[in-house]
This record gives sequence, C-alpha cells and structure tokens, in this order.
Amino acid sequence: MTPDDLKLPRSLLPSDGRFGSGPSKVRDEAVAALGGVAHEYLGTSHRRDGVRSVVAGIRNGMRDFFSLPEGYEVLIGVGGSTLFWDAASFGLVEHRSTHLVLGEFSSKFAQVARAAPHLDEPQVCETAPGETPIRPETVDGDVYAYPHNETSTGVIVDVHRPRGGALVVVDGTSAAGGMRVDPGAFDVYYFAPQKCFASEGGLWLALCSPAALARIERLGGTRWMPATLDLSIAVENSRLDQTYNTPSLATLFLLRQQLQWMLDNGGLEFAAGRCDRSAAIVYGWADGHKYATPFVKDTSHRSPVTATIDFDERVDASALASALRTNGIVDVEPYRKLGRNQLRIALFPAIEPDDVATLTRAIDFLLEHMAG
Ligand SMILES: *Cc1c(COP(=O)(O)O)cnc(C)c1O
Repeated sequence: MTPDDLKLPRSLLPSDGRFGSGPSKVRDEAVAALGGVAHEYLGTSHRRDGVRSVVAGIRNGMRDFFSLPEGYEVLIGVGGSTLFWDAASFGLVEHRSTHLVLGEFSSKFAQVARAAPHLDEPQVCETAPGETPIRPETVDGDVYAYPHNETSTGVIVDVHRPRGGALVVVDGTSAAGGMRVDPGAFDVYYFAPQKCFASEGGLWLALCSPAALARIERLGGTRWMPATLDLSIAVENSRLDQTYNTPSLATLFLLRQQLQWMLDNGGLEFAAGRCDRSAAIVYGWADGHKYATPFVKDTSHRSPVTATIDFDERVDASALASALRTNGIVDVEPYRKLGRNQLRIALFPAIEPDDVATLTRAIDFLLEHMAG
C-alpha cells in the first residue's frame, strides 16, 4: 500500500479542502452570488454603472476596512502584484530603491529594480529564508520596499517607517485583509485579490498616501513609461471607478463579496482574528509535535496567514502532501523554490479555523499510517 492509497475517515475531512496560498479558497456564498447576477452583470461594459458601482464599492469598502486617513486613495489596475513591481519601477522609484529581501517574492521586486535601465543599482538587505528580517542601518533609496508577509517562507515584517524621506512601499499581497496594519506607517500598500480577499488573480490594488500620489504625479511626465505601467493613468482611471483596460468582472465581484463579508462581520479585526485563531491552532500543534516543527523559529515573525511547517527526516512531506491531495485536501506543498521538507498551509480569513484543526488531525492520521 502506498501513502496515496490511505483514505481519511469522514471525521478527518475538513468542510473545504483548499489550503493553498494563492489562488486560495473562494467562499461558496460568493460564487453563488455571482451566479445570481450572471445575466445582468457578467458580460456588461466595465465603463457603465453596473461594473463601476462594484469598483466604487471596492474602493470605498477598502477605505473603511483599512481605516484610511484623509487624502489616501485606493488605486486599482489590471495585472496583479507582479505587474505592480514593474509599474513601481517607473512611477514610484525616482532614482534608487532599497529592498528587504527575505524570500522569493521580495527578491523579485529587487530584481525588477536591478534590471531597470533608468534606475541606479538598488540597495538590497538580504536575510536567509525563515530568519528574522534584517534592516539596513540607513535607507539610501527614495523607495523602501519590503513584504508584510513573505509568502514563500511565512516570515512577516512589521510595517515600519525608517528615518529619512523614502516612500514606504509594502507588498501586502498575502497579508492584506488578514493582518492588522497602520496606514500611517506606509505610503503604498499593494496587493492582489486571490489571497485574503478570496477572489481571483489578475488585478492589483494599491492604498496610496498623499506623498505617494504626489510622487506618482511628479514622475508621470519625466520619463518614458508604457501606458499600462503608468501609475498616473491608473490614478486617473481609479478616480472614475474604472481600470485603464478591461478587468475580469468575476474577479471584481468576488472581491467585493469577500470585502463586504468581512466588513459585515467586524472588518479587519474580525478577519485578522480568524487568522490568529488558525495560526494558534497550527503552530500550537507543530510546536508540540513528534515529527513537525514551525520553520520560522522566531515566534514574533511567524506568519498568521501562511504557516510553514518543517518535518524531520523520518517524514517525506511531499508524500504527505500527495496523500492529502488524494483525499481532496490540496495545495499544502511548500513554495517550490524553497526546496524544504515542508508543508505550507494558508490560514486566510475565508478558511475556517475548525478546518485547520481538522487538517492537523488528518495529517497526524496519515503520519501514523504512513509510518506503518
Ligand atoms: C502572490 C504574491 C505575489 C504575486 O502576486 P501576483 O498577483 O501573482 O502577481 C507577490 N507578492 C507576494 C507577497 C505574494 O504573496
């Protein structure tokens, strides 16, 4: 018998088997609501009231959800967080950026800056995966970039402002909606909706301070930039509750549903509280485990939205992930390039904390039976 033949008893099956870190679980209620408006909403113009009111609902909802101060604006565009790095290299970085690199996603933004011919070599402050993030003595760049949650490793960075005048540009892709944040501590907090906002990919959102908006406006006319990456064009369109080019209407709708669900239940405090509960379950389980241990040793830097759990040499984590998959529990494989004997479990707000508890029991069941 191979691990893939192991069948979990019904009592060890979570109500939903999606624990992936993105795309991630979309709530059934949101999908049903989309089905309900399919005829009047899907397949209609994104420059008319139907869709623009959804975009307006997202932009206003985000202001409430994040308690944005006066003067902050919510920008929205097509292309996801990866595209936002390219846009930032044109519209936010003036000469040079400073990056905290602690894993795959943060290194990709640094790579964009390094490759941009119009920018100086970036200042990069690198920390080994899983370790407590190192900060530079002085920030030399005019943009200071780091992730709130480095999704590839499950290490978090406190959202902080360094001394000096650099714009603080935070990658909140997997953190936004699941981790508390003080808007006064960032100038740009950007993310995509396929993680805590339980929607689909392909869109980026950016919460921008007045200083960030001023930088975007000032750089707009000073250098060549492709229109799709021109943040001043994104500002113009966002103010009209539309995107520069055609967005996915389903993505917008599902995002609006998730945002409204979180707002109706108490907002960011509710959402972050759910993630905290799930995190307490999974780390509490791993801390006392015979074979498992949290990858991130520093408890204050363990992610409440993507938990990374190492297994010792007696366990083959990829066989474990595969056995879970045959039982309908999917996407708990570690970030591929990290190459560890690990499971990565998303704890996003849409995921039931009770399901996380059931998942830990399911893993224990499989471990017992795999060991033979
Ligand atoms: C998922 C993720 C990205 C990439 O998002 P895309 O929308 O796929 O471009 C970037 N940064 C972080 C921290 C992520 O978790």
